[in-house]
Amino acid sequence: MAKTPVLTPRADDFPRWYQELTNKAELADNGPVRGTMVIRPYGYGLWERMQAEMDARIKETGTQNAYFPLLIPQSYLTREADHVEGFAPELAVVTHGGGKGLEEPAVVRPTSETIINEYFSKWIQSYRDLPLLINQWANVVRWELRPRLFLRTSEFLWQEGHTAHATHEEARDFAAHIQRNVYGDFLENVLAVDFVSGRKTVKERFAGAINTLTLESMMGDGKALQMVTSHELGQNFAKAFNTRFLSKDGAQEYVWQTSWGSTTRMIGALVMTHGDDDGLRIPPRLAHIQAVVLAIKDDEAVLAKVHEIGDRLRAAGVRVHVDDRTDTPFGRRAVDWELKGVPVRIEVGPRDLENGTAMLARRIPGGKEPVALESLAGLLPGILEEDQALLLKQSRERRLSRTAEVSTIDEAVEAAIAGGWARIPWSVLGEDGEAKLAEHAVTVRCLVTEDGAVPDADDAPGNVAVVARAY
Ligand code: AMP
Repeated sequence: MAKTPVLTPRADDFPRWYQELTNKAELADNGPVRGTMVIRPYGYGLWERMQAEMDARIKETGTQNAYFPLLIPQSYLTREADHVEGFAPELAVVTHGGGKGLEEPAVVRPTSETIINEYFSKWIQSYRDLPLLINQWANVVRWELRPRLFLRTSEFLWQEGHTAHATHEEARDFAAHIQRNVYGDFLENVLAVDFVSGRKTVKERFAGAINTLTLESMMGDGKALQMVTSHELGQNFAKAFNTRFLSKDGAQEYVWQTSWGSTTRMIGALVMTHGDDDGLRIPPRLAHIQAVVLAIKDDEAVLAKVHEIGDRLRAAGVRVHVDDRTDTPFGRRAVDWELKGVPVRIEVGPRDLENGTAMLARRIPGGKEPVALESLAGLLPGILEEDQALLLKQSRERRLSRTAEVSTIDEAVEAAIAGGWARIPWSVLGEDGEAKLAEHAVTVRCLVTEDGAVPDADDAPGNVAVVARAY
C-alpha cells in the first residue's frame, strides 16, 4: 500500500519541508513577535539532552556555570569599538521601566562579553586567579531580519563560555580545546553530524575577536550551517574593561580571553541533517525517547505487556516511552512517532502476543520485522549504536560526495549554486574573491589547511577556503 506523504518531499521544496516538519513533529511554533519561537515539549526535550551532554563536556574542561543579568547598561556595549559596530543593528534596547524613561537605556544581552568583563575585572587580581573559566546557560536576543525557526531566531537559548588566561598561547589553546573536545566531540558522538573544522576569514569573524574557530556542517540540501563558534578575543575586551592581573614577575598585564557558544540552532541542524521525507531521525545517543512501545489495541493483555516491555527496556538502560493511547488510531500514532524520529518502535497487538513476538520497526535504516519478546532487551542497545553510527556515516558521505575541488572562483560559485560545497586555494580566492562570492550569496565558510586541519593564520601557505551557500 502506497503511503500518502505527510510532508512536502525535500526534493520539491526543502524550506517548506523544514517548516512543515518542525511544526508537525511538534518541535516549535512561531512566536507572536516576529522572529521569536515557542519550543514545544518534544523540541525542548531534545534541547535538554543537548544541554546535559554539552554541560558534562564543558565541566570536564574545568569550566564552572554562573549567571549574569539579562539587561546590560547600553554604555558597556560601546566600550569595544568592533563589538558595538557588529552588534548595534541587532540590539533590542529597553528605554522604559516602571512607567518611566530610564536614565541609561539597557540592552537585552545579545551576548555577554561586556558585562562579564565588568565582573572579571573585579574578580581577577593576580595570576593566581587565572585561568578563570565561566559558562552560562541563558537566552539572548538579536534582532534578526531573516528569521527561521531554530536556525536564526531573534531570541535563542544557548550556552556562552567566557574565559580569561595569563598568556596568549594558553587562550589560543583553550579556544581550540573547546572547539575540538567539547563541540567537535559532541557533534560527532552525540548529534552524529559530520563537520569541517576551520577558521573564519576576517570578514566572517566575531565582532571583537582576533580569531574565530568554527564547525561547519552540510545540510540535506547541500547548504552549509555554522554549527558552533569558539573565539579568541585577544586582549580587546580586557583593554576596554581594564581586566588586568599582577603577573608572576610583578607586572600589571591584561588578560587574554576566549568566548564560545552553541545554541538551539543545533536542533534545526539535526532536522536538516538527518530528516527525511517521512520526518525526523533522532540519533539514539541524543534521543530522549530511544524506543517507543506501542499498544496496537485496547486489550488488557496487550496493555499489560507494553508496560512490562517498557520496564524491561528501562532496566536495560534504554530511554523508553510507552504509548498506550489506544483511543487514537494505531496508524496515526505510528506515523506520528515516525515524524518525531524515535529510533525504534516496538508494536504489540493480540496476535503478536500469541506468537510471543513484537514488531520491531527501525526508523533510521528503515524496515520492520517480528522479534521474540524475550530477546528485545538484549537486542536494543546494539541496534541503537548501529543506528547512531549509520547517521554519522550518511552525514559524512553527503559532504564528501558533494564537495568539489576547484581552482577558479567561477567554478566555486557554480558548485555552491548547484547545492554543494567547493574547496578552493585561499591564494586563488583571497579577500577580493571573497567579495565576488558575496555577489552570488556564496560565502567562505572557513579556512582549513591542505590536509584538513585548522590553520594558525589566514594567510598560511596552502590554506584552502571551503565555500558554500549557507543558512
Ligand atoms: P556568536 O556569539 O555570534 O559567535 O554565535 C554563537 C553561535 O550561535 C553561532 O556559531 C551560531 O551557530 C549561533 N547563532 C548565531 N545567531 C543565531 C540566531 N539568531 N539563532 C540561533 N543561533 C544563532
